[in-house]
Amino acid sequence: MMIGVEFLDSEDVREVYSQDASRWYKVKPLGVFFPKNEEEVVKCVEFCVKRGIPITPRGGGSGLSGGAVPEKNGIVLSTEKMKSFSIENSFAIAYAGAITGEIEKEAKKLGYTVPFQPSSLNFSTIGGNIATDCAGLRSVKYGSARDHIEEIQIVTPTGKIIKFNGSLSMIFSGSEGTLGIITKVKIRLSKLKKRKTLVFSFRSVKDAIGFSKEVRRFNPSAIEFVDEKSGEVMKIDENNKTPKKSKSYIIVEIEEDEQGYIDFSEQEISIMAKSFSGEKIDIPDVWERRKKLGPALSKIKPFKMNEDVVLPLSKIESFLEFAEDIDKKRISCLVFGHIGVGILHTNFMFGGGEEKEAEKAKSDLFNFVIENGGAITGEHGTGLEKINFLEKELGKNTLEFMRELKSKLDPHNIMNPSKIPTPKRGCIDTPISLTKTQYNTKK
Ligand SMILES: Cc1cc2nc3c(=O)[nH]c(=O)nc-3n(C[C@H](O)[C@H](O)[C@H](O)COP(=O)(O)OP(=O)(O)OC[C@H]3O[C@@H](n4cnc5c(N)ncnc54)[C@H](O)[C@@H]3O)c2cc1C
Repeated sequence: MMIGVEFLDSEDVREVYSQDASRWYKVKPLGVFFPKNEEEVVKCVEFCVKRGIPITPRGGGSGLSGGAVPEKNGIVLSTEKMKSFSIENSFAIAYAGAITGEIEKEAKKLGYTVPFQPSSLNFSTIGGNIATDCAGLRSVKYGSARDHIEEIQIVTPTGKIIKFNGSLSMIFSGSEGTLGIITKVKIRLSKLKKRKTLVFSFRSVKDAIGFSKEVRRFNPSAIEFVDEKSGEVMKIDENNKTPKKSKSYIIVEIEEDEQGYIDFSEQEISIMAKSFSGEKIDIPDVWERRKKLGPALSKIKPFKMNEDVVLPLSKIESFLEFAEDIDKKRISCLVFGHIGVGILHTNFMFGGGEEKEAEKAKSDLFNFVIENGGAITGEHGTGLEKINFLEKELGKNTLEFMRELKSKLDPHNIMNPSKIPTPKRGCIDTPISLTKTQYNTKK
């Protein structure tokens, strides 16, 4: 290809770039562009506009909803060669292809941390994190990727380089490659704090939920739920000396307060857990185990559908009953996730021959979530996977508005055209502003 941008179209390359980490959709692209800077991205866009070729931007390809799966007769634009970054004061200034985990490593050396922490930190890109508005373990305190954008640079679908700061940059967070290509970002980092992790086991799911709601008053930096079967995969009970069978677990992370203290909260939280019959247990490397939990599920069955639904906190109990019912009667279903913000990863595990039942369970899951005022995606985005449920969730008018918005910004309809930009829906009830002062007055 003679436009001065690296382009590969061998059979191997087309195969590698035909899927994302969901492994559920597969479309081979015509080839893959590897631009090195924004000027080269402009050249790629101009090339595709002239020929009416659809472009799918791709970062780490770790997406779980098919967002980076190419369009038919389309080209992938990979940001792999745009990965340099620097840490300046409390900001990370990064090209879109920078691996977020690499930014985190450098930030830590200077006393900072990337506030949104997807479990895929070490193999996803900062551009992909913003394009999906990723969330993670610490969203209960720090929100999602969009909450930390200071400045964003985009190559528009007509090939112009534009820059935004402030609330306009939000349009591109969660746009999943449909409104332009994010080329560079300036991210606000948080101060690295001393942290302590507490793990509690509960003999009923109801107690675990009750505790998870109550513990929000301490403004923890993480509140994670792990169900019984997921606990088995994490081998939690191997370390748990108590003989009673646990039905679920809550992992809480607390950070030092302004004065640098955390012990006071730890004691109070443990007392609070006891009032829900929760027992504090010691699990070495619990975050490592938690981060590896998703991939480790393959021990149960070979195939997985990992949904990232969000429930209002008041509906979590009935949701977990619904999931348990599916697990007992239909298909293996494990639930864990960021219960502090209502995001519950619901994993249907299945073998060959169970595909139809898995699809049916997924459809029932989305219907349950929508009917109970939740959202079908809290972090992974809509991609190809959830597109057919959007109208039910958002309503016809909202969907039409999003389509109109896309057609205004992308008049040639070349940017990831079979996907759709969707407004922020995740992190329902996020108590980011719940401060210690509020806790004291509530007590
Ligand atoms: C084991 C595992 C754990 C995970 N844990 C989490 C988690 O905790 N939280 C979470 O939110 N997600 C998680 N994910 C999902 C995934 O890692 C995130 O969605 C991540 O943000 C995707 O980043 P990426 O660079 O891999 O993007 P890709 O998968 O390459 O792309 C994702 C979407 O963004 C678009 N895109 C990518 N780069 C750009 C760009 N520069 N400009 C415009 N559009 C772009 C693509 O077109 C696509 O629509 C996990 C995935 C795995 C496999």
